[in-house]
Amino acid sequence: MIHLDNVTKVYANQNRPALDHVSVDVDKGEFVFLVGPSGSGKSTFLRLVLKEERPNSGSIHVAGKDLSKLSNFKVPHLRRRIGCVFQDFRLLPNKNVYENVAFALEVIGKPRRFIRKVVPEVIELVGLEGKAHRMPEELSGGEQQRVAMARAFVNRPMILLADEPTGNIDPATSIGIMKVLDRINRTGTTVLMATHDAAIVDSMRKRVVELEDGKIVRDQSRGVYGQAY
Ligand code: ADP
Ligand code: ADP
Repeated sequence: MIHLDNVTKVYANQNRPALDHVSVDVDKGEFVFLVGPSGSGKSTFLRLVLKEERPNSGSIHVAGKDLSKLSNFKVPHLRRRIGCVFQDFRLLPNKNVYENVAFALEVIGKPRRFIRKVVPEVIELVGLEGKAHRMPEELSGGEQQRVAMARAFVNRPMILLADEPTGNIDPATSIGIMKVLDRINRTGTTVLMATHDAAIVDSMRKRVVELEDGKIVRDQSRGVYGQAY
């Protein structure tokens, strides 16, 4: 589903590569934690998958497509098939829960009837039934992140990218967030989550890919956050 072959990314005016000869394969339906200290290249990895950045060398395939051969007008189509969740939620502040989720479908021209059917289903999937009319400011951080996950998932993406989704959420609430991500993963969506959250990684026992200075230093199935010797 995500295939990086010898990928190097050096940003302009940087002498050190953000990613340095990275090769990794993520299969359909996998759940992968991308860990490593700040500046190790996790966000760069996610941006390359979205074709928000281009590698200097190496090749990237997403869902069987070679991103170097994907013309610019096809990039929005790629991004539609990849849901994204961020540390800071990024909800539309003047839309309620229902409208935030529905908007993701409206902008891609889905019919109203379809939107009215699937939005309540996804709101229920993330555990926000009964809160469809709340405004973001009336929700806790954990609830706002559930809205963000509903919005990312409502179009049934093949891949969900999550960049520090529990970064602004207390540990107890984070467990609920991870249950939702696990539920999304069980529908067959490939999940790639960049995180610093050791407790969460250790509790989930999923594949762990660790970056350090832009290099993969560990790729472990059913892994933990810290290196286990
Ligand atoms: P992480 O997500 O693990 O914190 P990043 O991918 O954000 O790591 O950063 C990897 C390296 O690339 C860091 O040295 C960072 O300073 C650099 N970097 C990230 N984004 C940019 C950018 N837009 N321009 C220049 N350098 C960048
Ligand atoms: P209509 O076709 O009647 O205008 P919309 O689907 O556009 O209906 O919905 C109008 C508003 O009603 C939405 O912006 C939303 O706030 C609310 N709404 C619609 N359906 C639901 C639902 N199932 N749960 C919660 N709110 C809903």
